[in-house]
Amino acid sequence: MTKLRLAIVGAGPAGIYAADLLVKAERHFDVSIDLFEQLPAPYGLVRYGVAPDHPRIKGIITALREVLDSGVIRFFGNVRYGVDITLDDLKKHYNAVIFSTGAIHDAALKVPGIELEGSYGAADFVSWFDGHPDVPRTWPLDAQSVAVIGNGNVALDVSRILAKHADDLLVTEIPANVYEGLKASPVTDVHVFGRRGPAQVKFTPLELRELGEMNDVDMIVHDEDFELDEASKAAIESNKQVFVINKVLNQWRERPVGQASRRLHLHFYAKPLEIVGDEAGHVSAIRWERTKPDAAGGVVGTGEIRELPIQAVYRAVGYFGSPVDGIPFDEHHGVIPNHEGQVLDDSNSVIPGVYATGWIKRGPVGLIGHTKSDAMETLEHLKRDQANWWSPEDPAEESIPALLEERGVLYTDLDGWHKLDEHELALGAAEGRLRVKVVPRDEMIEISRAQPEA
Ligand SMILES: Cc1cc2nc3c(=O)[nH]c(=O)nc-3n(C[C@H](O)[C@H](O)[C@H](O)COP(=O)(O)OP(=O)(O)OC[C@H]3O[C@@H](n4cnc5c(N)ncnc54)[C@H](O)[C@@H]3O)c2cc1C
Repeated sequence: MTKLRLAIVGAGPAGIYAADLLVKAERHFDVSIDLFEQLPAPYGLVRYGVAPDHPRIKGIITALREVLDSGVIRFFGNVRYGVDITLDDLKKHYNAVIFSTGAIHDAALKVPGIELEGSYGAADFVSWFDGHPDVPRTWPLDAQSVAVIGNGNVALDVSRILAKHADDLLVTEIPANVYEGLKASPVTDVHVFGRRGPAQVKFTPLELRELGEMNDVDMIVHDEDFELDEASKAAIESNKQVFVINKVLNQWRERPVGQASRRLHLHFYAKPLEIVGDEAGHVSAIRWERTKPDAAGGVVGTGEIRELPIQAVYRAVGYFGSPVDGIPFDEHHGVIPNHEGQVLDDSNSVIPGVYATGWIKRGPVGLIGHTKSDAMETLEHLKRDQANWWSPEDPAEESIPALLEERGVLYTDLDGWHKLDEHELALGAAEGRLRVKVVPRDEMIEISRAQPEA
């Protein structure tokens, strides 16, 4: 029987689901899959994006781990495609490659002053509080009043972590440096800004409701934001999600406030115009224009300009993918150009043997579950394209560890991940917590590659 030697680059949910679905799929060939990941640990944004106080979502790792442990897929961590392994290497050793490299950086926001000191991208902050090994260990949390721009779930994650008392996060897996940073934060007010109205937000009800459950944090909403136009009323009546969001927000309008030491303010119909700086070039205020419904579900400016003193601003306006070495890249959308997962060249022709799935295929929107349907679509083409697969010169499985060793790459494998996982669980158990994350890359590698004592 023909054997497909498949390389998958990126061990986030998209890459792992693709491997799992292919192994389980009805097909007329054998498969052998190698999963390459630039970090020493797998799971992508499930480990380094999903907020630490969302243990239920983090629990998806259990299902992803079962896939890796099934014995059919090899994991090569701490191997960066484009540096440690190249497209030429993949062509020499595999029949095809699927790129599932996701997105880790912030999309740009064109607002004057966004480059000032004290202005941050949400993705960078998320990487910090989730213990990503490649970001600095300290985060400048010295602001009392903070603005968060965006009306999606990442804006809520960032606002919640900023507003929550550090001790209330101690039950989670946050590393010590994150706890200490948050504990010392002088923050009292977090202001979330969205251009549109409460019926047009992109939050999900569960994440919104959670804000109101924070200890010693008042939720502040403004009556002027709830004069609903016909389009908003129609959205509330026809969409269950919008209905629940509206209900939650209206409950907050009735709640007594004033006792809590911190406040989380939601400003709707507020279009940021400028981040104002002081003489030292540091963020000192946010200036915005009040908008109003345009009767078609959108908004228009009213000309009324408002300003609020702040000392830090976070833009949570989306993630953006990064180019992948030797593969075409759509600079406008931050994705690998593709047709249903088949990667396309500059003239829109399919490049044989090269596929994409997950956020780098579709763009950085959607939940973990969506990466499964993504993978299915991509795999349909991979399975059908057999005649166009590459013909590798050296498909032997042993060639890959030999190649990495020859290059001095300190790769981690599945056993190594188990060791790191157990180590983190033990650190957690010692503190009565589920897990405490190991952050420095060299420490992760050292634990993963440790040899058993003789
Ligand atoms: C802040 C945040 C919170 C979220 N919360 C939730 C939530 O609560 N629930 C939910 O369902 N979804 C949530 N999501 C969405 C979810 O994380 C994504 O849908 C999902 O992770 C996308 O999967 P992916 O595999 O395409 O990308 P990723 O998860 O980004 O995985 C890509 C992997 O590729 C690796 N990689 C990149 N470049 C290279 C390279 N050159 N060589 C080798 N490896 C490489 C990366 O290190 C990474 O491990 C959240 C996302 C964010 C950003």
